[in-house]
Amino acid sequence: MPAPDSSPRPRILTGDTPTGRMHLGHFVGSLENRLRLQDQYECYFLIANMHAFTTRAEKPGEIRESTFEILRDWLAVGMDPQRSTFVLQTEVPAIAELSWFFSMLIPFNRVLRNPTLKTEIESKNLGDQYPFGFPLYAVGQCADILAFRPELVPVGEDQVAHIEMCREVARRFNQVYAGVDPHTEDDDYPAAGAIWPIPKALIGRVGRLVGTDGKQKMSKSLGNAIYLSDSPKEVKKKVAQIFTGRQSLTEPGDTSNALFQYVRCFIRDEARVAELEDRYSRGDNIGDGHVKAEVADAINAMLEPIRARRAEYETPDGEARLTEIIRDGTRRANEIAEETLYLAKDKMGLGFGKRRLGL
Ligand code: ATP
Ligand code: MG
Repeated sequence: MPAPDSSPRPRILTGDTPTGRMHLGHFVGSLENRLRLQDQYECYFLIANMHAFTTRAEKPGEIRESTFEILRDWLAVGMDPQRSTFVLQTEVPAIAELSWFFSMLIPFNRVLRNPTLKTEIESKNLGDQYPFGFPLYAVGQCADILAFRPELVPVGEDQVAHIEMCREVARRFNQVYAGVDPHTEDDDYPAAGAIWPIPKALIGRVGRLVGTDGKQKMSKSLGNAIYLSDSPKEVKKKVAQIFTGRQSLTEPGDTSNALFQYVRCFIRDEARVAELEDRYSRGDNIGDGHVKAEVADAINAMLEPIRARRAEYETPDGEARLTEIIRDGTRRANEIAEETLYLAKDKMGLGFGKRRLGL
């Protein structure tokens, strides 16, 4: 009989900022991949609550509430704290320490040129008064990831620029402190003595789901999201608001519009999708209202079991159970993150013995 496979599973790290509840964009952009890979990989799922302070420093109560909401959403979709590790960023000191060291390895202007930061500054109306910590979060995210030495980072398209920065930091740290030759191919870093592999982004089935405004990406902060916890009525109402600009049932429609992204994304019967696309593009007596009703039904069918599971954590003792789950996961996460920090410090000439956290 072959021996059971005891080789360690490759790791995944990904997470969400507690700035609201989870929406359909999260589902197709990242959650589906997390669920699919939960057994093949050792998964670390991070609640980036420190990053929520970059835009909500004066609203700590909201951040705390959103932390619980995100946890409810995770459990509702089937992320499993028995098989995966749920981590609270503010309770992992190694992340903050690595951020400090990493900030020395990226030119300031390189951070400010990050296109995702630029888009966020514009779409969230941050103007020129955003705090110093706002661009710093992009460096912090490199530490979120590298603290766990993962191979894969399942994210939506908007995160690709951040992952690219993280890959640059990973290469640079390994070259400067771990003696890895700069000509080394990314995949060969571990064999060349690197502390961490060069992680790869894994984009979901839909990398960028547009919001109900039909313009910007669906986002917690932009008021254009359909939440996993919305009631069937709310879903119907929000889908009905998707703007297409089409005037009549017989006007040839543009199937690259926001409504049809939802059609392709949520109606799982391919033949029906093809039929709707065909009739809509020819203006064959099919109104937006009809298509919207079908989309809302498909979304509601998908969300039904998610709503039912979520209700289990909306009870009065729910918060205590959630706190237990996140404390337990964070304890395990600290073992890995502390080990990473120890390895990194050792390479940096800062090895003065292993410390123990009293967590
Ligand atoms: P915020 O508005 O506060 O930035 P958000 O809606 O962008 O919130 P995040 O917590 O920043 O959500 O992102 C969590 C994950 O979900 C990331 O991997 C991100 O790429 C992905 N994601 C967010 N919005 C979408 C979307 N509209 N389509 C696909 N993936 C998305
Ligand atoms: Mg975001």
